[in-house]
Amino acid sequence: MIRSRGYAARRAKARLEPFSFERREPAPHDVVLQIEYCGVCHSDIHQVNNDWGGSEFPMVPGHEIVGNVTRTGPEVKKFAPGDRAAIGCMVDSCRSCSSCLDGEEQYCENGPVFTYSSPDKHSGGFTYGGYSDCIVADEAFVVKVPEKLDLASAAPLLCAGITTYSPMRRWHVGAGCTMGVVGLGGLGHMAVKFGCAFGAQVAVFTTSAWKAREAQRLGAHEAVLSSDGAAMAAQAGRFDFIIDTVSAPHDIHALLTLLRRDGVLVLVGLPPDPAPVAAFDLIGRRRSLAGSVIGGIRETQEMLDYCGTHGITCDIEMTPIQKINEAYARTVKGDVKFRFVIDMASLGEP
Ligand code: NAP
Ligand code: ZN
Ligand code: ZN
Repeated sequence: MIRSRGYAARRAKARLEPFSFERREPAPHDVVLQIEYCGVCHSDIHQVNNDWGGSEFPMVPGHEIVGNVTRTGPEVKKFAPGDRAAIGCMVDSCRSCSSCLDGEEQYCENGPVFTYSSPDKHSGGFTYGGYSDCIVADEAFVVKVPEKLDLASAAPLLCAGITTYSPMRRWHVGAGCTMGVVGLGGLGHMAVKFGCAFGAQVAVFTTSAWKAREAQRLGAHEAVLSSDGAAMAAQAGRFDFIIDTVSAPHDIHALLTLLRRDGVLVLVGLPPDPAPVAAFDLIGRRRSLAGSVIGGIRETQEMLDYCGTHGITCDIEMTPIQKINEAYARTVKGDVKFRFVIDMASLGEP
């Protein structure tokens, strides 16, 4: 067994505190990653709070994991000690259902094994995530980080990046497309960067006046304060594609109204409670309402390589792990530009 140290919540809504636990010795196809940085996703906060139900405690959150390979099992082909590598939201899946065979492991019909709080077939317990010093995973669920990318600001690509990249590819966002991004947080700011890189016309819808200014610095062509009724009305019927990254309850009707004929609103944000949807908002212009969860392993590697080629990384604020509870509070307030990343060196020597 490998002794591991990290931070955990011991029960729902608890503050995160130091926690020691064990990782398995690498099996033949496993790699051991020394974690250098881990992003702080709003999903970590939802799961610590048990917003969606089904959370398992103690919980070591974290699924935006980057680091260096320290050991490999004897059958590992893709990695060698010293390689930069990354792990996102999944560490395994059934690998035999039609979704897995299509490289869409996030839709595994038998349920993917998520990086934390998911049943762990090796230990018989539950998986522990990236707010820790190391992690062990099958190489099939580990991806390579292009050398050109700064490791810390690449970490949030593993969730915020792929969760926005995947639906934008699925719905062919590109030149000639008008795209809306709702909520300028970790996911939203990556949607803006990808939208601009893909050649779309990008507008941000935000509840924060200061973020309207930041949106344009990030490359968005327009920014609209969603509390400004006249400004919202002026955008009606304009958009081919809107990605909704909002983490709290909000008005879906107002967003559907922004779509043109055949436009699609893709929900990626996960407020715990359902929102009402009016059929009349969909039928008149044949609009679609869709959802999307992260992306498959192959597409995650494609996204990282795309970011390497185009020099795309996340805008981050680094935090020591000892300040993780403050980072959570500030994320909930929307007070971060635009993603916290934990510097795992702050754990110090055992
Ligand atoms: P985040 O950084 O906190 O960003 C969420 C943004 O939503 C905030 O910055 C804020 O943007 C907006 N917002 C928050 N409360 C709001 C409210 N009451 N009304 C309107 N807007 C509000 O969170 P994130 O890490 O990007 O994650 C966003 C959501 O996506 C979370 O629910 C998370 O669980 C989910 N998620 C889903 C997937 C997936 O695979 N589908 C993957 C990762 C995360 P403004 O200040 O600009 O208004
Ligand atoms: Zn996430
Ligand atoms: Zn499967």
